[in-house]
Amino acid sequence: MVTAATRVAAVIGDPVRHSLSPAIHNAAFAAAGLDWVYVAFEVPAGRAADAVRAMDVLGIDGLSVTMPHKADVAAAVDSCTPDALALGAVNCVVRRHGRTTGHSTDGDGFLWGLQDDLSVDPSGLRCVVLGAGGAARAVVRSLAGAGAASVAVVNRTEERAVRAAALAGPVGTVAGPGSVADADLVVNATPVGMGDDGGLPLDPDLLGPGQVVVDLVYHPATTPLLEAAAARGARTGNGLPMLVGQAAAAFTLWTGEAAPVRAMAAAASAAH
Ligand code: NAD
Repeated sequence: MVTAATRVAAVIGDPVRHSLSPAIHNAAFAAAGLDWVYVAFEVPAGRAADAVRAMDVLGIDGLSVTMPHKADVAAAVDSCTPDALALGAVNCVVRRHGRTTGHSTDGDGFLWGLQDDLSVDPSGLRCVVLGAGGAARAVVRSLAGAGAASVAVVNRTEERAVRAAALAGPVGTVAGPGSVADADLVVNATPVGMGDDGGLPLDPDLLGPGQVVVDLVYHPATTPLLEAAAARGARTGNGLPMLVGQAAAAFTLWTGEAAPVRAMAAAASAAH
């Protein structure tokens, strides 16, 4: 039951009404027996700094941040972790003793999902990441941090690809679409294939057995890319495990407790 003592966490974004985060986090609080509640605030572009300031006056202890606010929140918090600083993006804010800290849990969420869903450890793998936006940047950095042999970024705009590849340090490169054929792990971090757009972010004939293909898109659950990859013998996974993984990391940052990940994954699947 929500009472006057219930602690509050929230997501800010626009749009945000479709967000699965309230279902995932409220299931987590219930499973852990914590007197917390999680709500969604539709905050228009340009107002993220106001939302971060509101955390203090309203006593909001945790914030998830989604489009279009991740960069604005990085600039609005009192301090950022090295990951958030490197990415210039924050997806999770912790408020403690009146100070806000910006974190980026997308990379850890991605790695957790890779392991939990597909039992894949990227150490030593040749990886190709499609896209150079916020999600791609987090994935590129996390793959390099996990010991990938190479992380090649494929993107329409080369300049953005160069900046994203730099996040992988010496193992980061910029590559063309053909590089997919030699990859062990291919990650789609573009929105191509989302909803009913039906698009493919690459030529599926470059894919085959022995490869792992992950689509960060999770709506639909089986994107055209995943369908085409599976048909050619690749192992596939969608973006839902990453969503659960980044939420689990946020839960632990806010509450200091281990996240009830199975309850969170079940809630994500049920709400999906
Ligand atoms: P973004 O706008 O920051 O970046 C999108 C990238 O895709 C850019 O590099 C852009 O050049 C590229 N792109 C866009 N349209 C393209 C097209 N038609 N062809 C080729 N490239 C194209 O977006 P983002 O926040 O990085 O999100 C990217 C995708 O990842 C979205 O579908 C989002 O829903 C998904 N995502 C999933 C999770 C998760 O937890 N599963 C987390 C974050 C983002």
